Amino acid sequence: MSITTDKGEKLNVHLKGEVADKFKRIKGYLGLEQDTEVIRTLVTWYFAQHEKELSGPPKNLWHFNLNDNGVVIWDPFLHWGVQIFFTPKGIPCSIDETDDCRHIQFALCQPDI
Ligand SMILES: [Zn+2]
Repeated sequence: MSITTDKGEKLNVHLKGEVADKFKRIKGYLGLEQDTEVIRTLVTWYFAQHEKELSGPPKNLWHFNLNDNGVVIWDPFLHWGVQIFFTPKGIPCSIDETDDCRHIQFALCQPDI
């Protein structure tokens, strides 16, 4: 099964075993024919259930430290302190190598940074 996002990104989903069986049961319960419609329904439902947590800056990162280079954000998924550099040209993230990632979104919303 593959999913294409609005940005043209294609996501491939491979399910097997118990999860595949659950997917088929949900698909049958919902009476949907297309796998994509099942995914769309599940994503919409999950987002509605967790909209507060999923909106705004990430809630699961921690401001770890300020240093001479910028700020370090602790990312529990990476188990790593992510350095965000404060430079005259921008604020690149050391992990994502961009200036628009969840680490930077989080950092910009911290009142003490
Ligand atoms: Zn980042």
